[in-house]
Amino acid sequence: LRPQATCMLILDGKHLAGVLVDEIALEVQQRVEKGLKIPHLAAVLVGDNPASKSYVSNKIKSCARAGYVSTMVTPPADVSQAELMQIVLDLNNNPEIDGFIVQLPLPKHIDEQAITLAIDPKKDVDGFHPYNFGLMALGVETLLPATPFGIMLLLKRYGISTAGKTCVVIGRSNIVGTPISIMLGKKGDPGDCTVTLAHSRTPDLAKVIKRADIVIAAIGKPHFVTADMVKKGAIVIDVGINSIADATTKSGYRLVGDVDYAGLAHKVKAMTPVPGGVGPMTVAALMLNTMKAVKGREKK
Ligand code: NAD
Repeated sequence: LRPQATCMLILDGKHLAGVLVDEIALEVQQRVEKGLKIPHLAAVLVGDNPASKSYVSNKIKSCARAGYVSTMVTPPADVSQAELMQIVLDLNNNPEIDGFIVQLPLPKHIDEQAITLAIDPKKDVDGFHPYNFGLMALGVETLLPATPFGIMLLLKRYGISTAGKTCVVIGRSNIVGTPISIMLGKKGDPGDCTVTLAHSRTPDLAKVIKRADIVIAAIGKPHFVTADMVKKGAIVIDVGINSIADATTKSGYRLVGDVDYAGLAHKVKAMTPVPGGVGPMTVAALMLNTMKAVKGREKK
């Protein structure tokens, strides 16, 4: 990967995701030559939440770069539970579709868990279904939750050694904190870490973070992790995506992570930027899951 000008290694997720998607594009080309099916990913985007729109648009762009076929399904914000459920069932039963995502969060009147449960686990390329979560927790090969999978790919491709390291994950959500804490605690490379899963009820959090060789912040609070909390030479993965007001930008806001990037830059060994770190790696992981789903269907 590209050498960096600063003494801190920037874990450039945007660049690495591009490399991974280009590798997938080569594989797609080979599939075309062999007469195999071109992977087809569908994304369900409910309503017009600007952040969700932007995430889905990145996913569709990535499909184009990978050579995948993509489909967007865009029901309005007032779609009923039954109508959304029918969309999911239709995608499950459509043999053309290899994998699909339902972009979260969903409007408040929708039962998000019921929708996630209805997705065919074999097409669940976000890796949110309990069936896939369970296999992941058992260490059985399956579709992995996309953001944690993206973090694992980032650690692997940057050759970050994790075995025997102390890792603190801050935030225990089902889609990021909890699964990455499980994945890094398991045997493997990356893996074999001694993991602490910290959250809003953790006492003396700064002291807990200070023990960590690897810090993973998935909280959703801008600049929450400051330089005084981290150990010198730590590896920092910033999952947070927070929008803060900034009068100097055209839009009037900018995106920042859960970590005070500028404050930590001179203290840590390596860190992901926001934007351009974990976000693009999540999309690359989604592309890899879709390829895995196609191959799984072919085996069957
Ligand atoms: P969530 O809101 O579901 O969970 C947040 C977690 O942070 C909770 O477990 C909570 O206990 C913990 N927390 C809150 N306040 C805390 C405090 N003061 N001290 C310690 N822990 C605290 O969040 P999520 O869905 O995991 O998302 C977290 C962040 O990551 C958000 O900014 C989100 O936008 C971002 N995110 C990014 C990606 C990506 O691809 N880069 C993917 C998913 C989420």
